[in-house]
Amino acid sequence: MSDTAIPLAGVIGLPIGHSRSPALHRHWLRQLGLPGHYVPMAVQQEHLAEVLQSMPKMGFVGCNVTIPHKEAALDLADSVTDRAALIGAANTLTFRADGRLIADNTDGYGFLENLKHSVPHWRADSGPAVVFGAGGAARAVIVALLDAGAPEIRLTNRTKSRSEVLRKEFGGRLVVYDWVQAGNMLDDAMTVVNATSLGMTGRPEFRVPLDGLNPNAVVNDLVYSPLDTGFLQRAREVGCTTVDGLNMLIHQAAPGFERWFGMRPEIDETVRQVLLPR
Ligand code: NAP
Repeated sequence: MSDTAIPLAGVIGLPIGHSRSPALHRHWLRQLGLPGHYVPMAVQQEHLAEVLQSMPKMGFVGCNVTIPHKEAALDLADSVTDRAALIGAANTLTFRADGRLIADNTDGYGFLENLKHSVPHWRADSGPAVVFGAGGAARAVIVALLDAGAPEIRLTNRTKSRSEVLRKEFGGRLVVYDWVQAGNMLDDAMTVVNATSLGMTGRPEFRVPLDGLNPNAVVNDLVYSPLDTGFLQRAREVGCTTVDGLNMLIHQAAPGFERWFGMRPEIDETVRQVLLPR
């Protein structure tokens, strides 16, 4: 194979040094014996359009985009999938052979696949869901839960106006609660998700009272560093089944890898080991 035929992909963000995506994609390329490279790219906001225009000319078949470029990437795309349009952000870009840019968002897919694989009996329609947070990740989780049939989503966020915006956008199945009353929305909830950045290494702990939590609820933290957050530990003390955020990161990456490099990657314990926070 000539050099020019080796597919290139990568992740664009700022900062980007902390991203686990290069380790993940390189692991899959090695495991599957595929030609290809995946590189981290620190790109300033004002250069994003120019960079995306140049990439296909250099052999890039696609890329991931992360903070702060997820919304801007959507605006720069020639075509946008329905789920990216609903979420209002892109995380997976593909350059077609004619240079056209297709924007997708796989965060909600990764979220659902993580829950389905980790807790095979989990069903979105088994009862109300609770979502803490109203940022980009929460939007993807809400779209995914609505799509999967959640009958009601109770939403709370430190900045209440952001929850209200989501309720207006996504409609009547969303019920907004005050952040200070967050403990009151847990009664009979069957799915509980922390989509805030609280509990991440270096951030304050997520301290919502869990007294009202139903022991049959499935509790998921999107935070994956640390892997076993204080929130998940406290939910297990109540008797709940808990799911960490690492497999969401892995599942959201798989569709892009398959599109760019041509094979569906394996999602097994070895890939978790590659990504475990050190
Ligand atoms: P984001 O858009 O910046 O949103 C951050 C959220 O956290 C907002 O709801 C924000 O509330 C809340 N928050 C931040 N500091 C807070 C504090 N001190 N007290 C209360 N709330 C606080 O970030 P994001 O992209 O949605 O990411 C959120 C989390 O999900 C991060 O930990 C990220 O690593 C994780 N994530 C994981 C995956 C995965 O694959 N596992 C994928 C995406 C994201 P305000 O609106 O009030 O600021």
